[in-house]
Amino acid sequence: MAIISSNIGDNDFSVRKKELRLVDSSIIQEEKRNNNLNLARPITLKEFIGQEELKSFLRIAIDASIYRKEPLEHTLLYGQPGLGKTTLALLIANEMNTKCKIATAPAIERPRDIVGLLLGLKEGEILFIDEIHRLNRLTEELLYSAMEDFRLDLTMGANRGARCRTINLPRFTLIGATTKLASISAPLRDRFGLSHKIKFYTYDELKLIIVNFARLINLKIDHEASYKLAKISRGTPRIALRLLRRVRDYAQVIKKTNLVSADLIQKALNSYQIDEKGLDSFDRQYLSFLNQNSIVPTGLDSIASGLGDDPSMLEFVVEPYLIQIGFLTRTPRGRLLTALGKKYIDSRNDNF
Ligand code: ADP
Repeated sequence: MAIISSNIGDNDFSVRKKELRLVDSSIIQEEKRNNNLNLARPITLKEFIGQEELKSFLRIAIDASIYRKEPLEHTLLYGQPGLGKTTLALLIANEMNTKCKIATAPAIERPRDIVGLLLGLKEGEILFIDEIHRLNRLTEELLYSAMEDFRLDLTMGANRGARCRTINLPRFTLIGATTKLASISAPLRDRFGLSHKIKFYTYDELKLIIVNFARLINLKIDHEASYKLAKISRGTPRIALRLLRRVRDYAQVIKKTNLVSADLIQKALNSYQIDEKGLDSFDRQYLSFLNQNSIVPTGLDSIASGLGDDPSMLEFVVEPYLIQIGFLTRTPRGRLLTALGKKYIDSRNDNF
């Protein structure tokens, strides 16, 4: 049973909404109808490109829940940033014809935050918690009975004045997203009925995402150009879309056109210092730093302080792609450049 701090009043379950992003999936549909360019997010499983295995699992799970008139089982999605975890949560809500509330774990600081969030849910609604591995222990403990028995066990007050109170919750679905599966405690992990990895996307899948988004933003992109962009998008839709937006800026401002060719992409990428592998100046700075110590593994913290950046940014944003293309290995003693990575960085004669 989780203990809530003594200053919580019986009716004081208000959530600090300004710190939590609460999104209603119907907003997504509305914005799409209005052709809001922000929303490249697919809203049905059919529209969602790639992740075929995951989609067929979800299709069955969603249809089974709808058939039984039950909420979807609690679902854990894990994978690198930008692969579509939030998109999937909103899409699931849309497919289940329900609402999805979004919160990020670091914003759920006090037990009353999660209590407020849970009490704000209605039957069948979805609560999406991003970066769920960062929940604090008390919040996590409150979630155990909420997830398993749709019940909150609270202790209010302190010492001799303490009272226990159980509150029944509507049946809801928790969708958790994480980039760090191993950091989720076993009891929390075990309470998710469904757990899926989101993989990197193939070039063909990214090309399709790029072509669809280009259509949405009135850009004409040819086959060669969309494939070129796909190849440097690190297997990640968010990066593909970001690069496409930069290419659009370049095309419209410098070339005064909405037509994107492979040649134009090359020029745009050169101007942003992104090379043919999709590496930018910061990636090259990272590789160059390691190259100076290429014989011995270097610890993440040393690299982070050497580059003046945050270790978790390096770990989750920079390194996964460098590992994927075979430029970097992680050893128990630190990071090591591979022969391929060394050859690449030695061959660069620019200053990042
Ligand atoms: P995550 O939550 O994993 O960090 P998001 O769901 O926010 O990633 O996705 C990042 C961006 O990529 C969003 O703009 C989303 O629309 C787009 N996106 C992700 N996956 C797909 C996909 N399969 N098809 C089309 N767009 C996608």
